[in-house]
Amino acid sequence: MFELNLNLAQEIDKAQTFDLIIVGGGPAGLTAGLYAARYKLNVLLIEKSFISGGQLTGMETIENYPGFSEPVLGQKLAQDMEEQAKKFGLKTLNAFVDSLDLQKEVKEVTVGDDIYKAKAILITTGTSSGKLGIKHESEFTGRGISYCATCDGPLYPNKKVLVIGGGNTAVKEAIFLAKYAREVIIIHSGENLTAAAPVLEKLQAETKIKVVLNSNVKAIDFSEMNNKKFIIEDSSNKHTETIEADGMFIFVGTTPNTKLVEGKLELEKGYIKTDCSLQTDIPGVYAAGDVIVKELRQVATAVGDGALVAYKINKYLSKL
Ligand SMILES: Cc1cc2nc3c(=O)[nH]c(=O)nc-3n(C[C@H](O)[C@H](O)[C@H](O)COP(=O)(O)OP(=O)(O)OC[C@H]3O[C@@H](n4cnc5c(N)ncnc54)[C@H](O)[C@@H]3O)c2cc1C
Repeated sequence: MFELNLNLAQEIDKAQTFDLIIVGGGPAGLTAGLYAARYKLNVLLIEKSFISGGQLTGMETIENYPGFSEPVLGQKLAQDMEEQAKKFGLKTLNAFVDSLDLQKEVKEVTVGDDIYKAKAILITTGTSSGKLGIKHESEFTGRGISYCATCDGPLYPNKKVLVIGGGNTAVKEAIFLAKYAREVIIIHSGENLTAAAPVLEKLQAETKIKVVLNSNVKAIDFSEMNNKKFIIEDSSNKHTETIEADGMFIFVGTTPNTKLVEGKLELEKGYIKTDCSLQTDIPGVYAAGDVIVKELRQVATAVGDGALVAYKINKYLSKL
């Protein structure tokens, strides 16, 4: 049985100037923390949740992270990543970063009334999945509700699943899910799907996918886990219908967590733009993981970014 260890508060001397402050303790931040600590940098990682791990902590299990032949508990993997980094000297603080001053040579990170200083800053604040906002949505995330087909699609072989959304991501993910599921129903609130024409062409060739328009998921009833019920409302006449299915995949947008750097760093569609060293448009300010402009947002790619960015930051600091 896995037991979650809560972080014990560490004494952090606020007067010092750290080599590096990492904002966000998901897989990217924790990996960068591990590598940077092994380079003997003085590193502080600040994570707003009381447990590190980011989106990993919201997954029941993960089965596509290399090195584990059996599915590994998301929270366990997150905790192991944090403990490993701390063993090498990573300091952590569980607090919400309110603002950043990135222009000065020594950068400042404001947490409540406190200011922490560092020669370099790494932003690994990740993304937040768009939620439907229905009752029990968070409770059943990872247990019948998912926001990631690449991650959870293979868990639904020969099953019936709903896909919520009508844009490119929703339709592409529905096509992906049809490789595993026996039936996929796309539920979209609008009159037409908004995915691009080539994506819609691919959809037309799919025989397992059905599309229901002008409809919204109003409620779920998972009181019997083997017989999950989804209450769907037709927005044109307010009629409701109950659909039984094994799971629901929600693709109603993903928001990068970049409020902290809006107007301070160059962004593209809300994501942070970096160069191939993962440096932003301000020297000494780096970003990695899901929060940057990239194609594939997964734990393995976040971890890869974390390793690379720590290497580049170490090089940058050694030249100062
Ligand atoms: C439901 C779901 C299932 C998934 N399944 C898989 C899977 O099976 N396999 C896979 O490879 N990937 C999966 N993913 C994707 C994977 O979780 C992400 O790609 C990965 O977690 C990204 O890591 P990250 O460190 O960049 O960001 P995140 O994991 O998003 O971590 C960002 C961290 O920053 C913190 N933060 C944000 N703002 C602040 C602030 N102001 N101050 C302090 N801290 C802050 C957040 O609390 C969070 O802990 C899944 C994602 C979801 C949502």
